[in-house]
Amino acid sequence: MDCFAAPAPSAPSAPLPLDEALERVQRAYGAVTEPEEVPLRAALGRILAEPVTATVNVPPVAVSAMDGWGYGKADSAGAEGDVLRLAVVGRVPAGSVFPGTVRPGEAVRIFTGAPIPAGVDTVAMQEDCQAGDGAVLVPATLKRGANIRDAGEDMTAGSVVLTPGLRLRAQEVGLAAAVGRSSLSVRKRLRVVLFSTGDELREPGTEKPEGAIYDANRYTLAAQLDALGADVRDLGILPDKPDVTRAALADAAATADLVVTSGGASVGEEDHVKRVVGELGSVDLWKLALKPGKPLALGRIGTTPFLGLPGNPVSAMVTFMLVGRPLVLRLSGAESAPAPRCLVVAGFEFKKKPGRREFLRARLAIGPDGRPVAHKFPSDSSGVLTSMVEADGLVDMPADATTIRDGDMVEFLPFTGLFA
Ligand code: AMP
Ligand code: MG
Repeated sequence: MDCFAAPAPSAPSAPLPLDEALERVQRAYGAVTEPEEVPLRAALGRILAEPVTATVNVPPVAVSAMDGWGYGKADSAGAEGDVLRLAVVGRVPAGSVFPGTVRPGEAVRIFTGAPIPAGVDTVAMQEDCQAGDGAVLVPATLKRGANIRDAGEDMTAGSVVLTPGLRLRAQEVGLAAAVGRSSLSVRKRLRVVLFSTGDELREPGTEKPEGAIYDANRYTLAAQLDALGADVRDLGILPDKPDVTRAALADAAATADLVVTSGGASVGEEDHVKRVVGELGSVDLWKLALKPGKPLALGRIGTTPFLGLPGNPVSAMVTFMLVGRPLVLRLSGAESAPAPRCLVVAGFEFKKKPGRREFLRARLAIGPDGRPVAHKFPSDSSGVLTSMVEADGLVDMPADATTIRDGDMVEFLPFTGLFA
């Protein structure tokens, strides 16, 4: 199905709700990256391409969870008031195996991670015991099974412990190691080509004539793409010239999994990106019912997916967070996981017209009652990049809402969840 040919809802006169745009992204694009095997140490941040199955139990056998004394609780041999007096018959450090059986009235000195000997079903922690003269006093009140980790308590042999599509964090990499894997099949990095567009843009570090500005978007967007594990190729600034733009985009698309541009995607005379991409493939210009953010172009150059972000620096960043991030994850073969959000107290007043969802830049602080309070940045301009530096995340104000009052509960999306 070609979702970019959809007629009415995408017409510029009918702003498209963000959720609808995200559904279209899910429908129109799928994973494009091939699997490759990487050593475990190179797997961090990559997307798992295979299910990982435990081939062993973890722990492999029942082990002690404490340094202490192990004994059989079943009998009350050695009872003396509220303690048991037990004869110490051995010592079991981690990594060794006690060869015999511990009989009623006996105990072994045992350490964290050491296998539980036959006859032992309880471990008393050393802080609660008194040892000397070949015997130990352990509390009589312990529950049977205390301080023992069962075989397979963490993972059982044969079970799937990691599923394809997971983005590997430290804990997933460690878990793969715990089941004995030294390498994993992961998706190849998404090859993303990045351009800025605009005759007014200059490269930081170069001479800047009057009327020009330094290109900020390629740096924010490259960083945002890096954080998602993409393999970013930065191809610089495109002038506002259709022929140059056409040649550059066609060339870049040939060796990329995704082409991302910022600027030049509106319908102004100097905005050539949309028309050029339409000539090279297909494009849909979405006037999103979103602030900051519109317009946004999505489509294909030939068969290569294309994302055209707005030029205003805040709009470029925020639309990338809200639409670009899900698109990149989708193409990369990652399981879709919505960015985390939480409820916080509004520390500001705000009014808007209904019909358009707004994401307000806000800083979080702990209020007098210990609850997190969102303080809105004073300016809502989509050109003010300092607002993003000040903010910790975005307050999500629904399309139909018109007012936020001081003390209202509002939904907050922390940047930490929108960058990764
Ligand atoms: P455009 O979408 O091309 O009309 O650009 C909208 C606004 O964003 C204009 O003020 C541009 O100068 C500005 N802008 C576009 N691209 C960038 C960029 N890469 N870095 C900083 N500002 C930009
Ligand atoms: Mg421009």
